[in-house]
Amino acid sequence: MRIAVVGTGYVGLVTGVCLSEIGHEVICIDIDEAKIEKLNNGFSPIYEPGLEQLLNDNIAEGRLSFTTDFEQGFQYAQAIYIAVGTPQRDDGSANLDHVETVARSIANHIREYVVVVTKSTVPVGTNHRIKQIIEENMVEKVPFNMVSNPEFLREGTAVHDTFHGDRIVIGADSDSAAEFVKEINKPFGIAVFCTDIQSAEMIKYASNAFLATKISFINEISNLCEKLDANVEDVSHGMGMDQRIGRQFLQAGIGYGGSCFPKDTKALIQIAGNVEHEFDLLKSVVRVNNKQQKLLVKKAKDRFGSLEGKTITILGLAFKPNTDDMRESASIVICDQLIRSGAIVKAYDPIAIEKARSILNPEVVFAASIEVAVTHADCMFILTEWSQFKQMDLTAIRTMMKEAIIFDGRNIFSLELMKEKGFEYHSVGRASLY
Ligand code: NAD
Repeated sequence: MRIAVVGTGYVGLVTGVCLSEIGHEVICIDIDEAKIEKLNNGFSPIYEPGLEQLLNDNIAEGRLSFTTDFEQGFQYAQAIYIAVGTPQRDDGSANLDHVETVARSIANHIREYVVVVTKSTVPVGTNHRIKQIIEENMVEKVPFNMVSNPEFLREGTAVHDTFHGDRIVIGADSDSAAEFVKEINKPFGIAVFCTDIQSAEMIKYASNAFLATKISFINEISNLCEKLDANVEDVSHGMGMDQRIGRQFLQAGIGYGGSCFPKDTKALIQIAGNVEHEFDLLKSVVRVNNKQQKLLVKKAKDRFGSLEGKTITILGLAFKPNTDDMRESASIVICDQLIRSGAIVKAYDPIAIEKARSILNPEVVFAASIEVAVTHADCMFILTEWSQFKQMDLTAIRTMMKEAIIFDGRNIFSLELMKEKGFEYHSVGRASLY
């Protein structure tokens, strides 16, 4: 089938590339000319394992192309996917400006029947609004259908998730449109769940809110563990063995970040507020997460008294491993707090440094390697669980640091290993080693 995908970010690009990989003829459209030029030259503007290879394979096969021209992009499309950003407004609600602009472009350019598929995460009721905008602004009156097809991929494993997702949710305004989108996705071989549009929109927010709740829950348990001399790693292991609970998203740490959980939890609180419902549980989840992001700095201040003049190494800037995405990463808050406390911050990340430069406090010094970052440091903060950090030569690192002190926000090392290597070690929800 011929598909146009609007927006070539983490979701749009992965969707477009993977749809071409299963045989569709895909054209991706973006307003960012630099991005489109890079893509046309076979380079991915985002770091996502496996993506660039598939991108080049499908360009070579002639099934995948990129443009900034909506007229050209929509010309033969049987389906138009909307995958533009829905960032957070100051009040926490979702900003739908990009989605509404795309709806107007669709209205301007479609000349024959098309199915409009919304991948962007949008508040309940938005697909009806998109439909209304298209109907009101259509240059040529042609029939179209709306489908809500929320995206569940995770950055860092986005390509894998697209081929091996747990489910594809389709919320449609007609059975034939639902069937059409089912047919598009058939080669993925993933279970499909069909429902109405509002329920599909809600499934996305409810899923992210639930996962964020699980994270804040285990983080609160970890805070209790510290006070009661229990070990949160063992507690989550023991809990996770219960299949009703499950092992995933039970890792204590310095909270969730990224482009989805922070904004989607706040948006759902707003969505609830709009229908006069106080979502008390979710408000607590957000509060716990904000508090958790500040945990390591508090631990360091308790340990040193003052951070004035201390050299602190930050290992990991991206909000999670295997991505260069810095949006809402805990490292932003932590680096800022450390610098405002008078510390000298030396940071290293295997992939995210370029994106971090324009986002982090300008006083952060970037290092080209772990070794450069740790040399003469008074302590080290681990903020992202990159495998490179799990495998570093701790014996050598110990000799490079001024003091062998680690504050680990992701619990990447066992207490036994830290004892054996002779580090003072402060982690989350476990006893500190001195
Ligand atoms: P992103 O910011 O990485 O990419 C958005 C892209 O849209 C950018 O390239 C931008 O230039 C382009 N764009 C903006 N306005 C446009 C317009 N009018 N026409 C054409 N292109 C336009 O965003 P993302 O992370 O891919 O997220 C997209 C949507 O998917 C959001 O609603 C997000 O909540 C949702 N989502 C994201 C993830 C994730 O892990 N990133 C996962 C699931 C769902």
